[in-house]
Amino acid sequence: MGHIVEMGELYLAPNYKRIPLAFVRGQGARLFTEDGVEYLDFTSGIAVCNLGHTHPRLVSALKKQAELLWHTSNLFYTEPQARLAMKLSELTFADRVFFANSGAESVEAALKLARKYAKDNFSKEKHIFIALENSFHGRTMGALSVTGQPKYWQGFEPLVPGVVFVPPNDMEALKLAFSEEVCAIILELIQGEGGVYALNKEFILLAKELCEKHKALLIFDEVQTGIGRTGKLFAYEHFGIEPDLLCSSKALANGLPLSALLGKKEVMAHLTPGSHASTFGGNPIACAVAIEVLNIVSEEGFLEEVALKGRVLKEKLEGLAKEHANLIKEVRGVGLLLAIEFYEPAERIFKGLLEKRVLVTMPKPKIIRLTPPLTINYREIDYFVEALEHALRG
Ligand SMILES: *Cc1c(COP(=O)(O)O)cnc(C)c1O
Repeated sequence: MGHIVEMGELYLAPNYKRIPLAFVRGQGARLFTEDGVEYLDFTSGIAVCNLGHTHPRLVSALKKQAELLWHTSNLFYTEPQARLAMKLSELTFADRVFFANSGAESVEAALKLARKYAKDNFSKEKHIFIALENSFHGRTMGALSVTGQPKYWQGFEPLVPGVVFVPPNDMEALKLAFSEEVCAIILELIQGEGGVYALNKEFILLAKELCEKHKALLIFDEVQTGIGRTGKLFAYEHFGIEPDLLCSSKALANGLPLSALLGKKEVMAHLTPGSHASTFGGNPIACAVAIEVLNIVSEEGFLEEVALKGRVLKEKLEGLAKEHANLIKEVRGVGLLLAIEFYEPAERIFKGLLEKRVLVTMPKPKIIRLTPPLTINYREIDYFVEALEHALRG
């Protein structure tokens, strides 16, 4: 590979296990290397570029705002930020929004708000977070502390105290974990980094009931499942269960750094002036792009089409799973957040796909995750399935 990879290897921190590929251009579901080699992107930059690369309407929104205003700090109001907050309120359960830049920051904001809400309304003893085993909420100390996978936090202890972990979908364990001291429970409705495992509706309902009973806040981390990924704007709509707080990021601005903490007025009111902040949070350019993202995703028929493409792709994968029952353990997921679990390490399949110039992610050694752009077309889906067949045959 060319000089970009070499330069990166020499000068970048070694914290990522990168594939030795450097991309210089993207269009829709395609990425191009410096030599002009084309790849089919079934990662969307880890569920970020949900509308594909350099979507013309997003490029235009970005350019327009870039010529108007980049940053004012949150000492003032800007139109893109206020308008995006209004739009998110119109489209969701929420009516107040706090903006930050990354998923982890939106989780930090949720955790801090939950502790403050409990202290303001009840007592400072009410400080426990319930989180799920196998979860992922980000890499900052607070988000890490509610992440239920030791591989992410080992070596960084001591973590933030006051976190109790429960196995996903274990109703008895959830009941036992709850007490008056719990200030919040944080859930991914589908555990993305954990390998695309969905929660049961009964479990989420129980969490909601227990939160109401113990006056704790229900937090949904929809950083990965949001912005149309599962065929709904947010995955909670599948279950008909609303949270008190919701974290959104990744695809919110289709690749520009932006996150949002959504909530109801009564709860968000505890983010009093000075209690929390972010210098870049709600950046006007990122917000202008996010407004156009939401315009596109909420156009008539868009999400139905995502759900349909998800079903078509999943059916094809299930067909392959039947043919290769010795290799494939399970196909699962909702909308265009799908996973294929293998009996053996999936490295061979990953490499087989790469040979066919198809990019996917591997959240766990035996799991391949598919998060193609929501704008993927049926020809590209077919190309992917053929490449996977090739990889399966070896
Ligand atoms: C990616 C992710 C995060 C962390 O987002 P960053 O932007 O990397 O901080 C948090 N929660 C979930 C569910 C995620 O998938």
